[in-house]
Amino acid sequence: MTTKIYMDNAATTPVRDEVFDAILPYFKEYYGNASSVYSIAKESKKALEKAREQVAKGIGAKTEEIYFTAGGSESDNMALRGVAEALKTKGNHIITTKIEHHAILHTCEYLEKNGYEVTYLPVDEFGKIRLEELESSIRPETILISVMFANNEIGTIQPVGEIGKIAEKHGILFHTDAVQAVGHVPIHVEEMKIDLLSMSGHKLGGPKGIGAIYIRKGVPVQPLIFGGAQEKKKRAGTENIAGIVGLGKAVELATAEMSVETKRLLHLRDQLISGILEKVPYSRLNGHPTDRLPGNCNISFSYIEGESMLLLLDAIGVAASSGSACTSGSLDPSHVLMAIGLPHGVAHGSLRLTLDRGNTEEDVNFVLKKIPEIVQKLRDMSPLYEEIVNKKA
Ligand SMILES: *Cc1c(COP(=O)(O)O)cnc(C)c1O
Repeated sequence: MTTKIYMDNAATTPVRDEVFDAILPYFKEYYGNASSVYSIAKESKKALEKAREQVAKGIGAKTEEIYFTAGGSESDNMALRGVAEALKTKGNHIITTKIEHHAILHTCEYLEKNGYEVTYLPVDEFGKIRLEELESSIRPETILISVMFANNEIGTIQPVGEIGKIAEKHGILFHTDAVQAVGHVPIHVEEMKIDLLSMSGHKLGGPKGIGAIYIRKGVPVQPLIFGGAQEKKKRAGTENIAGIVGLGKAVELATAEMSVETKRLLHLRDQLISGILEKVPYSRLNGHPTDRLPGNCNISFSYIEGESMLLLLDAIGVAASSGSACTSGSLDPSHVLMAIGLPHGVAHGSLRLTLDRGNTEEDVNFVLKKIPEIVQKLRDMSPLYEEIVNKKA
């Protein structure tokens, strides 16, 4: 079965046609190294700086505050390790959350092994941190607060502007992993008092293996990668011009189309959510009902395994994701679903459907028709479900 309906846009997105067209010339025609002096290299340099401008504009930053990396994971690593090292004489305490992407969590674990202390803030049942708890976790030795903009599993959007205010008030740097947010929700680093921000190309219609980090002017960050003088010596290595052009184009397009596309997606998302909740008993929405990414639908179905749902959905050409085992290579359910307080059993029956510009009303209707059938089929095979239903009868 080939995938006919792709609803896993939080995992990655297809490269947009306009982005693909913009990239192509930089493989064969304009192949010059941006650091060289002859004409063809100047085309690369020009493209590099244009993309930097497009990215900066998309998040309200200055052009010189954007540094290109190889993706969201590298940007996250660079923010945490770079600031930790640069400020190690100032303090050794970092505040983050329990629901971050592993690019943040595993970097924090590494820092903990190297003399840093990390506070992992819990979240409420909707996946939001509590601002009072954030503020009371601040210590004299706190050097960085890192809270993701929007969660990749449950879609919850954090009160980023409020977090920025708290960080500024206490003179602490604020980093946000905005990989799921850039191009999907409005971001303004100045207004939101963000000091560092991570983004990635392939989550917004750009290519994989390209990302960027915004570093506010004057914020000290040690480089992760040494070598040439590229990216003002903050990130060595010959620039991935094609990828960079693609990221710039993707950010520009997504920002320009955001208000129209958001309206369309919100309609589809809410149709999907309310349709499933209505049609399927023992189902619940995970994440915040309104402060959530416009394309994110994450629902738990009691008495079934999310993995089994994925297989049955794949069999009818639908690509989705679950918050249960196997996908992550471990038996534990997702750390995010655990953090919002879901019991193991319920977390194992979670399904994430993430919509983007490729999805239509027909897609949503098809999935809405099929999911209740699939859930019922799986529940019919579950001895636990039978027992519960019989007890109620
Ligand atoms: C995808 C993702 C990342 C990692 O980005 P890559 O470009 O795949 O390395 C980091 N954080 C979040 C929230 C993500 O969704």
